[in-house]
This record gives sequence, structure tokens and C-alpha cells, in this order.
Amino acid sequence: MQYCPKCEIHITGKKECCPLCHGPVSGEPEKSPFPVLKKPRFSGVSLFKVSTFCLLVLLISIGAVALLQDELSGWMTITIVFSLLAWADTWIVSYYRNNPLMLITMEFYVLIALCLGIDLKYTHLTWSVPFVIPAVFLLLITLTIILARAMKMSLEEYVMYLVFDVVFSVFQLVPVLLHRNRHPLPAVVSTGLILVLAAAVIIFRPKQLKNASDKWFRIK
Ligand SMILES: [Zn+2]
Repeated sequence: MQYCPKCEIHITGKKECCPLCHGPVSGEPEKSPFPVLKKPRFSGVSLFKVSTFCLLVLLISIGAVALLQDELSGWMTITIVFSLLAWADTWIVSYYRNNPLMLITMEFYVLIALCLGIDLKYTHLTWSVPFVIPAVFLLLITLTIILARAMKMSLEEYVMYLVFDVVFSVFQLVPVLLHRNRHPLPAVVSTGLILVLAAAVIIFRPKQLKNASDKWFRIK
């Protein structure tokens, strides 16, 4: 045990100096009572800085080429949009890296927005709304449940993610009802399965759902 001769106190653990007078301590240090955390090789902040730097270099380069050519061509616009998305994505990854559930949820919604945007601009909603989005919602909900189970989370801890996904997946029915989805089967099947899951939670696990939503809205 360490000892401060000035304050005449014994100090448990491992201290560089006396916690009271900040003077030197004598004696053998004990093993630290707290685990020592390893510093990550790349912290979120540095990842964010590197990606911001890359983005700026790319934007400056495109700006220079555009100035020389005196026009902003199609590929330049696409590169700018995609690099902004990639940059926003590193922000999401570094912000939610300790919360894998929030991370995959955010990533899947970015993916949905990206597919919708590309499909809307270039292919008139022929593949995203009919096929990709129904599959993405089913995959997201399945992954959420698998991941939460793997992390040994209780239903109460992750049910709000499911609620969120259920609410958004129901929006798939809007294009179906407006007759804008020419292949409505996947969207209807996907939403149907998801609503069955929602019904199961509401009927068999109402307590967990209520506790989780109470907690959620208290935070908000
Ligand atoms: Zn002291």
C-alpha cells in the first residue's frame, strides 16, 4: 500500500501522487482497482478528421477540374453526392460505434434513402420500392433481433427499434395504395410479416413494450 508522509494517510490502489496534497507518495502501489482500457488505434475523432480531409481534397480537385473545363459534368455531380454520403456515413459510424443496433438501423435507412434517390432520378421507381425496400426492411428487422439476442439484450431494451422499423415499413403501402407500385407482392408480403411480428409483441409482450415506450418518451 502507498503512503503519504505529509498527510499521514495510506492510499489504496495505484496513484502517481497523493490525492489530497498531490505530494509524492512512498511504498509499493497496489494493482489498480479499475480495469485499464486499451486506447483504440483509430479513434472516432481521427477517422472523422481523415474522412473530412479526404472529402475536402476531392471537392477541391473536382472544383479545379470544373473551373478548367468551365462546366460541372454529370460524373462530377454524382461523385460529389456519393462522397458527401460516404462522409456522412463515417460520421454515423464513429458516432454510433458503441451501439451496433443504432448503427445498423442508421445504415439501413441511409441505404433505403440512397436506393430511393437513385431509382427516383434514373429509373422511375422500378426496383427500389417494389423489390429492394421490402427485402431491406425484413433483413433489418431480422438482423435487429439476431444482434440484440447475440448481445444478450432483453426485449425491453430493443423493442423500440422494432417499433421504429414497423412504423416506417408500413409506409411501403402508400405506393401500393396509390397504384404506383407495379409489383406490389413483395411490399405487401413484407409489411404483412412485419405487422404479424408487431401483433405478436403487442399481444404477448405488452408489459415490455409499455415499459420501453415509457422510458423512451421520458428521455425525449
Ligand atoms: Zn498527502
